[in-house]
Amino acid sequence: LALMTDWHDWQDTRVDGERLWNRIVALGEIGAIAGPNGELGCARLALTDADREGRDLVTGWMRDLGLTVTIDAIGNVVATRPGTDPRAAAVMTGSHIDTVATGGRFDGNLGVLAGLEVIETLETLDIATRRPVSVAFFTDEEGARFAPDMLGSLVYVGGMALEEALDIAATDDDARLGDELVRIGYAGPFPCPAAAAPHAYVELHIEQGPILEDEGVTIGVVEGVQGISWTELAITGRSAHAGTTPMRLRRDPGFVAAAITTFVRGLTKQLAGAQVATVGRIDVRPNLVNVVPATATITVDLRNTDEATLVVAERALDAEVARLAEAESVSVTSRSLARFEPVEFDPVTVALVEATAQRLGYSTRRLPSGAGHDAQMLARVCPTAMIFTPSVDGLSHNIAEHTTPEDVTAGANVLLQTLLQLADVAD
Ligand SMILES: [Zn+2]
Repeated sequence: LALMTDWHDWQDTRVDGERLWNRIVALGEIGAIAGPNGELGCARLALTDADREGRDLVTGWMRDLGLTVTIDAIGNVVATRPGTDPRAAAVMTGSHIDTVATGGRFDGNLGVLAGLEVIETLETLDIATRRPVSVAFFTDEEGARFAPDMLGSLVYVGGMALEEALDIAATDDDARLGDELVRIGYAGPFPCPAAAAPHAYVELHIEQGPILEDEGVTIGVVEGVQGISWTELAITGRSAHAGTTPMRLRRDPGFVAAAITTFVRGLTKQLAGAQVATVGRIDVRPNLVNVVPATATITVDLRNTDEATLVVAERALDAEVARLAEAESVSVTSRSLARFEPVEFDPVTVALVEATAQRLGYSTRRLPSGAGHDAQMLARVCPTAMIFTPSVDGLSHNIAEHTTPEDVTAGANVLLQTLLQLADVAD
């Protein structure tokens, strides 16, 4: 391999978009599910037989490229192309290949297969880098079968003990995570957490939202991941006849559930900026037309890129719930279902992604990620950034999830050029 010392040579390199697209299609055939209008989605829940088949296909491609493939104790797979400096830490890219039950072919898969395409491009063009370049796929990112989500990358960075993770029981079946790893042959010999952190981590992912498409922008430069606060509120009042009970004597959990829903919408306007709020589940009992409900259980999902504002939103919600409980004479018990602080990606690496995309001639926009990603875990141990490509109609976790071949190629080219700079292409 010859080191390419001419700046312009490596800047002219591009991925093979068709080769990448064909791999996305081939991986999508495993666990494929069809929609009513011919959409092609994907169901490969973590550590199922379909996941094993998908893993086998991707690790086969990794080995075909002559990469060193390591499988760790939680089933994370890392494939590495060596650099010219044996002591240098690797530049890593990657994502996940597990999906939700009604998933698409792009979520996660794009980032892994684009990483593979970057490495194949380097191989084909005989481009050497000082640092090794690795592509990883992390176990159980979706958390659809084993909660919490982003599990493999969480353990990879030492955020959860391996033994604890291996002992997690499946949400909907009798399986234990550690047993399933052994069953599908992906309980690997390498230590997890990893022995050494990467030099940097850059992940390509579909946006999974409507912003890039809405604004006609090709590349999203992700500045960080929103903080998430999930609360379940169980409201207990008194079931009563809808016709005979005067309004002043009611203790109506249904009314309180609706009032909270309205309140959090108002809160987003009051806090402006990046605050979003969702009441996604309302379970009213007995759920009858002529009965004042006895109970209502609701969930409130609050997200913000700013931790201080997220705390303000949580406190405002608590105060309003207490006020409503007293006014309506109901009791409310509150339970936290999830709480993650916002993650800010490395400003230098974020700026590198932005400059690289612009030099390639793509329109860019900075934005936060509304969803969780493996990158937010890697951000705990190394400089990290993400690249987003548009999602048609903003759809994801949906069989109609789609990203155009042009946008897939654009995202992979930004990934290629970013990784080349991080890995020191020119000595
Ligand atoms: Zn994903």
